[in-house]
Amino acid sequence: LVEINNVVKAFGSFQALRGVSLDINEGEVVCIIGPSGSGKSTLLRCINHLETVDGGLIKVADNVIGYRLTGSVLHELPDREIAQQRAQIGMVFQQYNLFPHKTVTENIVEGPIIVRRKDPAESRAKAKELLQQVGLAEKADYYPGQLSGGQQQRVAIARALAMEPRLILFDEPTSALDPELVGEVLQVMRRLAASGMTMIVVTHEISFAREAADRVVFMDGGQIVEEGTADELISNPRNERTREFLSAVR
Ligand code: ATP
Ligand code: MG
Repeated sequence: LVEINNVVKAFGSFQALRGVSLDINEGEVVCIIGPSGSGKSTLLRCINHLETVDGGLIKVADNVIGYRLTGSVLHELPDREIAQQRAQIGMVFQQYNLFPHKTVTENIVEGPIIVRRKDPAESRAKAKELLQQVGLAEKADYYPGQLSGGQQQRVAIARALAMEPRLILFDEPTSALDPELVGEVLQVMRRLAASGMTMIVVTHEISFAREAADRVVFMDGGQIVEEGTADELISNPRNERTREFLSAVR
């Protein structure tokens, strides 16, 4: 479903991604771990074209993200087409980024109604279902400020799901949460993973990666250093840098 082919990204003279390649199958859950500054967020941001790339290609469902390929030349797509591509790719950030002046339901139906041009009544019914799915049926008419961090993050997940995305990118979805709220968000993510959603999850939650990931990728210095099943990479890392990182976070 996702093909990341030799992606290079620089900020000025700093190389944030130095040729990253990764293929992700439909229904696969891939966790990305690695030290601060290793390029994890930059990689996710390239996948939905929140960043341009300086080299390489990313395809989602066989479409080149952000660009039209003419011969061997890339032209950036017009904003409208980029927006359409992004509509297929859910993103859940560390900061939940809910609209503070909209209720939970309004937050969830905004994308479907405006971007997907769905029927408002239908979208509201769907939002209700999604809120049930994330355990927040009774909070439909609350404002984000009236919810805990864990609840807000679960709303953010419901909002991403409301767009019926092909895949969802998570960037440290639990790292801004108080420890006692982490579990409820991971629980929702585990269920989502089990339901067959394709997920790329940047996380420091090694135990989540161990349980839910089909594959774990370790990044360092803008490169993928090692990848494997959770069992291979977390329990038996081959690379010295992976070993050092894991012993530091555990
Ligand atoms: P963390 O675990 O701290 O979130 P990360 O692996 O997500 O780290 P990135 O945010 O991808 O790291 O950043 C990779 C490198 O690129 C960092 O050194 C960062 O300073 C740099 N970088 C990221 N975004 C920009 C930007 N907009 N301008 C300049 N440098 C940037
Ligand atoms: Mg990051």
